[in-house]
Amino acid sequence: MSDSKVRVRFAPSPTGPLHMGGVRTALFNYLFAKKNNGTFILRIEDTDQTRYVPGAEKYIIEALEWCGLNPDEKPGYSCGFGPYRQSERKDIYKTFAQKLISTGHAYYAFDTPEELDSKRKELEKDKKVFTYNAHTRSQMRNSLSLSEDEVTELLKGDYVIRFKMPDNETVEEEDIIRGKVSFNTRELDDKILFKSDGMPTYHLANVVDDHFMKISHVIRGEEWLPSLPLHILLYKSFGWNTPKFAHLPLILKPTGKGKLSKRDGDKAGFPVFPLQWKDPESGDISSGYREEGYFPEAFVNMLAMLGWNPGTEQEIFSMDELIELFSLERVNKSGARFDPEKTKWFNQQHLLRKTDRQLSVLFSKELDKRGIKADENFTEKVVSLVKERVSFVHEIWDQASFFFIAPVEYDPKVVKKRWKGDVPAFMKELAEKLNEVNEWKADKIKSYIAALIEEKGLGFGLVMNALRLALVGGGFGPDLMTIAEMIGKEETIQRIKNAVEKLG
Ligand code: GLU
Repeated sequence: MSDSKVRVRFAPSPTGPLHMGGVRTALFNYLFAKKNNGTFILRIEDTDQTRYVPGAEKYIIEALEWCGLNPDEKPGYSCGFGPYRQSERKDIYKTFAQKLISTGHAYYAFDTPEELDSKRKELEKDKKVFTYNAHTRSQMRNSLSLSEDEVTELLKGDYVIRFKMPDNETVEEEDIIRGKVSFNTRELDDKILFKSDGMPTYHLANVVDDHFMKISHVIRGEEWLPSLPLHILLYKSFGWNTPKFAHLPLILKPTGKGKLSKRDGDKAGFPVFPLQWKDPESGDISSGYREEGYFPEAFVNMLAMLGWNPGTEQEIFSMDELIELFSLERVNKSGARFDPEKTKWFNQQHLLRKTDRQLSVLFSKELDKRGIKADENFTEKVVSLVKERVSFVHEIWDQASFFFIAPVEYDPKVVKKRWKGDVPAFMKELAEKLNEVNEWKADKIKSYIAALIEEKGLGFGLVMNALRLALVGGGFGPDLMTIAEMIGKEETIQRIKNAVEKLG
């Protein structure tokens, strides 16, 4: 394999369910990989055992699967670059942390949490913030400030390994999305690379893995930009080439400032997670796009448009179209505002892209739930008549239940407005007379009723609205004569009789 091959990774930490921002990161990695005939890798970054949440990894894998973002390499997949779960790569990291010590880029530190805390408090008194860096490290207990003998002794107990951040150096990098980004190391601290529990921190594990998994492009959220200078310095310290970097814009709240949070979703009633999530500790349930009835392709399409566009007016894309058009150069720097209403629109557009047969197969499941058995062709016809009025498959029932069952109640507002005057008496007569219609077809029924209305000198609209009330239970639905034709003569007559009986 040549080193110029595109290899990207999505590297979530299993600390909870995947937020939709995480799914977007996975998506952009996936699109970039597929566009460039590259490899899309899933790596589970589970080195922080204190934040490990049971079920989170399974959730992440299921969510990617639902979205159609299937990794080419992932945990459980054996190939030259695995394992893909960092907890299974523990030994690799220690070797590399020690390598940094031997080359003078890192050091052992023995300060206890209490010591660090008291140092912090001491400085707080003078309104200063304590930073472990080039200016303070000589006052702390570490392998740079203590004698060799002391260090040898202390290494028998707890210690961490810290990066020796250079003082006042400029680190620059060309980010594919942001252009040149520049940092001064004076702002940075001596980050811990290796913890006393024998695990690496995110920074060390991430860089080592990206190197050994031959990652060509690191595509991740903007929140990781502050870590970039440390990562670049780590690559340099190891003498490794850096991958290319692309930091994706934040996803912003629907209104106001700041990044989209779970709380925004809870407040406004939209999901922020791809799948429903049950918190293993509290048992609390957070809603998911899948369970709300979204098509994965609509959810993916919506996410793709959060921060990216193809430079044309087109907004609706299939996954293949997205792969075809995607480029990191067309990702925006500025935050992308999330719009829950627009998300529904995306679903509606994808619903309309499906064939009536596909929709009726999906809608049949809604019928099954209600114990209703219906003819396939009949269901397909129903779907074709109401699909323009819905955004979700489950909404078809609200628009079309009367095709399958007689109305159980009548909308009181419509009753008040439409069931009055001469109408009830006419309806009673109509129920008897409709038997005379020989050919039960929409146009025939219509001309028969029209003639009868004329004979009685009533208003056509008036009668039709009342008839709609009798057949569907309210003032909605597609063409009324088509409804009558579809439910059949007997059922039509029966429903008129029911209405006359119930509404008087
Ligand atoms: N484990 C990090 C996360 O949870 C990965 C960040 C990165 O892609 O470097 O997002």
